[in-house]
Amino acid sequence: MNACPENIIQLMNHHLDGDTSPSEEQQLKEYLESCEDCREQYQALSKTVAFIQSVSHIQAPPNFVQTTMERLPKEKQRAGVQRWLR
Ligand SMILES: [Zn+2]
Repeated sequence: MNACPENIIQLMNHHLDGDTSPSEEQQLKEYLESCEDCREQYQALSKTVAFIQSVSHIQAPPNFVQTTMERLPKEKQRAGVQRWLR
């Protein structure tokens, strides 16, 4: 099992904030093609961002993506607990 590098996570955040250079976007794109975990995480993130933008004309707060990232593992944990309780 390979851990996803911190800088790729940062690149995802910057990309969704519209704050990446073309070379960084290339790096992110190549990495997403090689790592399924990162691809899933990126897709989940971009869906969340798109959803928020579609239901609200208020712009997402600057640290919105960061907050979402921090929330993801906890939701996975909760899903695991629910599975045990059934
Ligand atoms: Zn990865």
